[in-house]
Amino acid sequence: MSVDAHKETLGFQTEIKQLLDLMIHSLYSNKEIFLRELVSNASDAADKLRFEALSDDALYEGDADLKIWISLDKDSRTLTIRDNGVGMSREEVIENIGTIAKSGTKEFFKALTGDQAKDSQLIGQFGVGFYSCFIIADKVTLITRRAGLGKEHGVHWESEGDGQFSIETLERDQHGTEIILHLREGEDEFLQDYHVRNVLKKYSDHITLPIVMPKITTDEETEQTTVEDEVVNTGTALWVRSKNDITEEEYNEFYKHVAHDFEDPLTYVHSKVEGNLEYISLMFIPARAPFDLWDRNNRKGVKLYVRRIFIMDDSEQLLPPYLRFVRGVIDSADLPLNISREILQHNKQIDSIRSGTIKKILSALKSMAENDAEKYAKFWEQFGRVLKEGVVDDPTNQQAIAKLLRFASTHEDNAAPTVTLDDYITRMKEGQDKIYYITAESFAAAKNSPHLEIFRKKGIEVLLLTDQVDEWLATHLRDYEGKQLHSVTKGSLDLGELDNEEDKKEAEKATSELKPLLDRIQEALGDKVKEVRATHRLTQSPACLVADEQSMDASLERLLKAAGQNVMGSKPVLEINPTHPLISSLNEEQTGERFNDWVLILFDQALLSEGGQLDDPGAFVNRLNQMLLSMMKPESPIIMPH
Ligand code: ADP
Repeated sequence: MSVDAHKETLGFQTEIKQLLDLMIHSLYSNKEIFLRELVSNASDAADKLRFEALSDDALYEGDADLKIWISLDKDSRTLTIRDNGVGMSREEVIENIGTIAKSGTKEFFKALTGDQAKDSQLIGQFGVGFYSCFIIADKVTLITRRAGLGKEHGVHWESEGDGQFSIETLERDQHGTEIILHLREGEDEFLQDYHVRNVLKKYSDHITLPIVMPKITTDEETEQTTVEDEVVNTGTALWVRSKNDITEEEYNEFYKHVAHDFEDPLTYVHSKVEGNLEYISLMFIPARAPFDLWDRNNRKGVKLYVRRIFIMDDSEQLLPPYLRFVRGVIDSADLPLNISREILQHNKQIDSIRSGTIKKILSALKSMAENDAEKYAKFWEQFGRVLKEGVVDDPTNQQAIAKLLRFASTHEDNAAPTVTLDDYITRMKEGQDKIYYITAESFAAAKNSPHLEIFRKKGIEVLLLTDQVDEWLATHLRDYEGKQLHSVTKGSLDLGELDNEEDKKEAEKATSELKPLLDRIQEALGDKVKEVRATHRLTQSPACLVADEQSMDASLERLLKAAGQNVMGSKPVLEINPTHPLISSLNEEQTGERFNDWVLILFDQALLSEGGQLDDPGAFVNRLNQMLLSMMKPESPIIMPH
């Protein structure tokens, strides 16, 4: 293979300057985190090499004793971090740290709020940790070589963080990466041995790889100095230690390492399973959703280890998509070291680790919900919509997930989803056997829907579902604790025992009395509706639309159409409120043309009030204006639009 040794200067992607500025200004108060980021990268690089070497021992190049070295040089004002991990090829350097990289950048800039404290929290999520070294360095030199490539494949990268970097191929004996930070004026504390050791202790003690610093001792008698390597971290894998010996702070720091986050997690579950199958799992619930939360496929975040050896960072087999926000590690004592992705897919042990871990996570969420409602509300705001997918995807745990759901409801005034299904059940009216819900595109549309009128009158609570996934969720969650979930916009109104016999009879009577009117309406609407009938569900509105019992709910239909799916439009049923004055007037209206217009307005209104879209809004507005005009000047002739 020919080596392209030329030196070139390349520009960072356009956003980098902005990012670096932001990083330098907003992370300034917390600048020592650059060390955590670089140590974390070095440790990942060692994990990668160890894993690749499982199938190709030669990659170690005779040096399997993986470490991180940190050294300080007061004369040249540099701090150097070196590892003998996997290293990078020239292409990898350009790809990983040359361009600011990754789909995350754009999302990152979109997510910025302008509030520095908040924004600084975001940086870690976007995989831009390496750049934090420019907080304290005005020049960074990175020298690396990919393990397994010949020594002529060394790479020298350098940047002053000013929008460009140079890259050059050179010879390098050692595989792995060395990063030399040329410290800015005034950053002298990072040249102090004790300060750097303290920072390492604080942020990187749990790193399993030895972190080595030179220790200089002077013999008092001979005044001779000797330099020895000294390991500065404890270096036991945190998850292996006993829960009681781990402090909250250590858990938090470890989380930041595995999740590349700057913020503490909301909670964690740490468990050791013994018996037939032995494994340890340590799972964290982050405080904030990552930018790629909606990507169900490309899932990383749970690292699999086998007896402390990192195997892969791929949660696909380890957790279901609806828990894709969880971060952590699983360490199995039983799996073979050379396990591949393919084997993982059909492995019984993985299956039981997976189901055990799901249960642990769900019960951690349950106890968070029970013990700290405020924290749970934060969780729900960030991840509620993802968790809802579980109701559909995971029938085994459906009821446990249902317990964790939160909804807005007619019982509460604000749109924040705080009501649980259990809350709802305790407030059910005597004789009520169903959990009623309505789906709509917004809280206001749900809350003001005419379908709720009878429920309000009778004081029956209705859940207000306004997430896109809710319709799908409600269809799959048929019942909870033996109570059926029932859409108030579907089928004819049946309140069971809650129905007042009188009301019902009246509606039936009205239907037969109004038969001629209903027929005329049906005729005027033609094939827009399946049926026209009288209802007792309305107390204030003249009419509403309901879906047939068997057919799709109107809001689901709209959703699927919006997603570009070809759905067979099902016709709604128009329900009329026989007690409404508009309906009585309509009954008296004899002119055919005017009657038709009124009916069309009534139909369009019913559609609008449930958040639907009119087929021909212009015609609706015209009709309404004509009607208003005729009310203002009753004698004027009516000119209808064509
Ligand atoms: P992140 O670590 O979140 O991916 P970084 O900006 O810190 O983001 O690093 C970008 C990438 O550069 C890493 O994912 C890794 O591929 C590569 N990298 C960084 N440091 C090293 C290192 N010491 N050895 C090998 N690769 C590294």
